[in-house]
Amino acid sequence: MSKTDTDIIVIGAGPAGLSFCKSLSDSGLSITVVEKNSQSVLENPPADGREIALTHVSKSLLTDLGAWDYLDDDEKYFLREAKVVNGDSPYTLHFPTPDKALGKSADTLGYLISNHNIRRSLYAQCQHQENLTWLTETLVSEVSSDDSKATVKLDNGKVLTAKLIVAADSRFSSTRRQMGISAEMNDFGRTVIVFRMKHTLSNENTATECFHYGRTLAILPLTEHLSSMVITIDAAKAPSILAMNAEETKMDIIEQLDGKLGDMELVGEKHCYPLVGVHARKFYAKRYALIGDAAVGMHPVTAHGFNLGLQSQSILSQLIKEANRKGEDIGNMPMLEKYSRRHILHTLPLYHGTNTIVKLFTTETPPAKIARKLALHAGNFFVPFKKLVSKQLTG
Ligand SMILES: Cc1cc2nc3c(=O)[nH]c(=O)nc-3n(C[C@H](O)[C@H](O)[C@H](O)COP(=O)(O)OP(=O)(O)OC[C@H]3O[C@@H](n4cnc5c(N)ncnc54)[C@H](O)[C@@H]3O)c2cc1C
Repeated sequence: MSKTDTDIIVIGAGPAGLSFCKSLSDSGLSITVVEKNSQSVLENPPADGREIALTHVSKSLLTDLGAWDYLDDDEKYFLREAKVVNGDSPYTLHFPTPDKALGKSADTLGYLISNHNIRRSLYAQCQHQENLTWLTETLVSEVSSDDSKATVKLDNGKVLTAKLIVAADSRFSSTRRQMGISAEMNDFGRTVIVFRMKHTLSNENTATECFHYGRTLAILPLTEHLSSMVITIDAAKAPSILAMNAEETKMDIIEQLDGKLGDMELVGEKHCYPLVGVHARKFYAKRYALIGDAAVGMHPVTAHGFNLGLQSQSILSQLIKEANRKGEDIGNMPMLEKYSRRHILHTLPLYHGTNTIVKLFTTETPPAKIARKLALHAGNFFVPFKKLVSKQLTG
């Protein structure tokens, strides 16, 4: 193997790239992080409207990285129960607090943390990490690899070499394509719009997913009288919702919720995201691995995206540390294959399961409406299904 500038090049300092860097803080490996954002954006990322639902496993991974305890208590929200509502029906599929469902001590199904706070907290853990070199406001324009090294070309013309490239460069990763990894892309033709609202009645710390006809609305409980609204709608209809002023938005949501949260008030701005699901065919190439959304970008309805991102970086960083301890090449193919195999076991069923749910609950033909109703009733009565969902959230 030829001598390289650094051991690992990480492309992208989003939540996945940052947590991967922190996981390798005690590895003795040199890491260069390339990120197009500036250092000040990384230090203080702007709010982006995403409230990330995290499982108990993710909480424990973030705790190990120091990122959980770094957050103030009022930046952590509790998701105690969840309900799913279909069409105009009053019937709900209910996921109670796990101690009721499983006889376990966990008193919450999961947690909600704002995405910008996750990013801020993870960056704070890595900012002064000794084995990291930061190249911010820098874009990776080309990647390649051969048996002895991986090479990255930057937009400033510089070239860097490493034993391994780890790409955490988002679901629209351009380096994934350059390395010849194909990906299944599912453009749902829909847009998700997120914003916060205050309300006079309690949300009871319960997340509610309303699969109305025409659009879906999820209510994510933050504090008792503050929730995040997540609207999923046909991309063509999204501009009309984005254009509503505060009063129109309030009237619209009160009507959608049938007044269940009382009087309401828009807080802050609306943010929108195109809905595109992506699953890479495999998560590695020669001296190259994909983590986070670059490996799997999920539809947010089942809230798995960053939970899977955390798992991906955890599996890969452990395998790299193990190889390094044994004196092996940290970019060796069998290790990368092993990483890909292990992670795909989690991602494939969740990716396809989520897409099936999305398809079922956004199709509005008469047979699909009946299937939606049946699915909800079956979910309630099929106890193992509810236990499985609760178990997955609470670990
Ligand atoms: C509305 C919404 C709600 C969501 N809700 C949940 C939820 O409840 N639970 C959950 O687990 N997940 C959720 N997610 C998913 C979660 O936000 C993502 O999984 C997570 O942010 C992905 O992190 P990442 O680091 O992989 O990618 P990103 O956050 O996309 O970061 C990629 C980074 O790479 C940088 N970059 C890209 N290309 C280059 C390049 N060529 N050179 C240099 N830098 C580059 C970018 O600047 C960026 O900083 C949600 C997503 C959305 C849109």
